[in-house]
Amino acid sequence: MRIAALLLIAASPAFAQTPPPDPEGIPQHDLNRPPPRVVMPVAGVPAAVPGLPPSDAVVLFDGKDLSAWKSQKDGSPAAWKVENGYFEVVKGKGAIETRQSFADVQLHIEWMTPTPPTGESQGRGNSGVFFAGSRYEVQVLDSYESKTYPDGQAGSLYGQFPPLVNASRPPGEWQAYDIAYEAPRFDAAGAVTKRARLTVFHNGVLVQHARELIGPTTNKVRTPYSAHPEALPMSLQDHGNPIRFRNVWVRELKRP
Ligand code: MG
Repeated sequence: MRIAALLLIAASPAFAQTPPPDPEGIPQHDLNRPPPRVVMPVAGVPAAVPGLPPSDAVVLFDGKDLSAWKSQKDGSPAAWKVENGYFEVVKGKGAIETRQSFADVQLHIEWMTPTPPTGESQGRGNSGVFFAGSRYEVQVLDSYESKTYPDGQAGSLYGQFPPLVNASRPPGEWQAYDIAYEAPRFDAAGAVTKRARLTVFHNGVLVQHARELIGPTTNKVRTPYSAHPEALPMSLQDHGNPIRFRNVWVRELKRP
């Protein structure tokens, strides 16, 4: 009876709230962590990745308007700037999120950081692609010959996993993310039964391979999972920098 009671406690949501340990035993945001080596997306050729939407894609931005997006804060129409086939973060307008909810997806999104670059480290061309509302971030940052903590550079799963390599293009050039996201699953008691899993290609280069997040991607703190619906909006971060985005589409990954 006593063992059964302990097992019950161990399986309770309260027990599950203990902050998870550092992945790979390295402290979060360690500036002395060895940085990922630099890889050119196409050897010697900083060409754009076409990334045209397949026939079963849900197009989230086709160059014309942000009708598929809304303000994350209050649900009002997305108030970021749209021009010349792209949209751009407007500082202070806050994050925008998709009107549609998604569980497991393949996402294609292209982005550009400002040139000439301003700021340093996390202040240099910062935005982010988030899944499940604002829980799980694939970092967007100007990481071209710009130092920051590796678990916060472009292609990182913020605060948890640096990219395998640094495949960044220079500021002012279009870059692409192709991301496979699997939503976490939870049991009836709210305990995580399957972690969020992400695979990320940055400019066609694999930078995250089936990485399982240890919890939400939070700043300067480790946060445990808390139960949420499988399908939720995806969002883009307003970090105060005028990041541009274009050619955004998803494919929903239905389980058999
Ligand atoms: Mg960010």
